[in-house]
Parts: sequence; C-alpha cells; structure tokens
Amino acid sequence: MAWILRETNGIKYYSSQLLSNFPWLVQGFSTRWEENAVGLNFGSSLGEKGLREAYKRFFAVFGLQPDQVHTVRQVHGDLIITIDQFKKENRLQEADGLMTNLSGVGLATLHADCVPVIIVDPLHRAVAAIHAGWKGTLAGIVKKAVKQMHRRYGTEPVDCRAAIGPAIGECCYQVSAERYRLFWDKWPEFKKGEREDVFSLNLVEINKKLLLKSGLRSDNIDVASLCTSCHQVFYSYRRAKESGRMLSLVALK
Ligand SMILES: [Zn+2]
Repeated sequence: MAWILRETNGIKYYSSQLLSNFPWLVQGFSTRWEENAVGLNFGSSLGEKGLREAYKRFFAVFGLQPDQVHTVRQVHGDLIITIDQFKKENRLQEADGLMTNLSGVGLATLHADCVPVIIVDPLHRAVAAIHAGWKGTLAGIVKKAVKQMHRRYGTEPVDCRAAIGPAIGECCYQVSAERYRLFWDKWPEFKKGEREDVFSLNLVEINKKLLLKSGLRSDNIDVASLCTSCHQVFYSYRRAKESGRMLSLVALK
C-alpha cells in the first residue's frame, strides 16, 4: 500500500490507498499545490479571511462544509478529544487529536513537519486524527488514541487500519543528543544500530512501532514515506522556517 497524489478542482492532495478501500470514508492530506502554483496554505499568516477561504476550498474536495469540520488548538500534548456532537464549539480546545463515530463530522489537524496519523475502526465505524510531533510521539499519543477508541467505541486494535502521512523524515530530522536520548531511554528496543554520533530521529517509524505495540497488524498500517522537508510539494518548518501548514482530514460520510 502507499499514499497516492490525487487532484480535484485543481487541488492536489495525498491520500492513503489502504483507507480508500472504505467507500464510507473520506481522507486527504493537503499539499502546497493548487492550479499548478503554490497556493493552498493553512498557516496563520493568511489571516482569518484567507484561512476561511482555504478551508472552504479544501473541504469542498471531500464534500464537506467548514462548519462540519472540527479542529483543535494544537499544543504538542497527548490529549485526544471525542467529538460527539455535530455543533462545533466556538472556542478551540487545546488537544492534539480528535476522534468520532459520527457521520458527516470531519476531523482535521495541521502539519508542517509533524506526523499526521489517521486511525480507522471499520467494525465500529470510528475514526481518529492525530498530530504527533516529537513531544506527542514521545508521549505515545497514538497508543493513547487506540486505547481511548477501545474504551469509547469497543475498538479492537487488530481490526484497525492506520495511515501515517507525509512528515519530516530521518534524512532531515537531526536533533540534539538530549532529545535523541529521551526516545531511546524510553524505548531501547526501537533503537537500530550503535551509531552515537548522528542524532537523527525517525518519528514516522516510531509511531508505526507504537501502533504495532498497541496491537495493530503491520499490513494494516499504510505509511506515506514522504519527507516534508525533501519534497517541495509540502511546507516544511525545518526547511524554510516559514509559516505554511498542510491539513490532514478524515471524515465518515
Ligand atoms: Zn528529508
């Protein structure tokens, strides 16, 4: 399985092939490209009006109106909120994940290099959208999401599908020795090789391993393997220190 570049109404976005097997689900990860130019951006530099327009254009690709899509104020934590009503709150809650089993409710997270993870329980028809930066990854936010889906919807990890989207790759993500050690002190079993001179983290792989640890099957995890810093089609904070953001979206039809 892989993630595929698609285009609708001039908007280019990636989506997981594995998740496209479900006709009752829509899912996509935006790129910078619209009408073959750099356009679509969900960064705060656009101002409220510009953002509203960008949201409207992207959501329309998936047949959704802006008032159907729930977002959060992302704070690099491990809190996942449950959406159990159609009405959006006016004030954004601080969290880094959302989950729901309601049809017609979109869940969206914002990304520049941080890992987007979508978890789908096809048996109970429930979904989660996660923003996993290094802090969220270290806090095990994806494990927490699987547990929370189990408690709330009766989700069994073995039934789940997960899609890990474009994010900063190991190729471009050198960190301090301190940050590097935080991960291997916590999960020594994840460490590969003995090199101690290059401190590169592979957040995508760590999130995949956490999903496996949670009980998901390997062939039920679809990894995009696209580095946001290497590929100009994405905004990357590491590459450009710019305020551009992509959007990760999932909804039950
Ligand atoms: Zn890279």
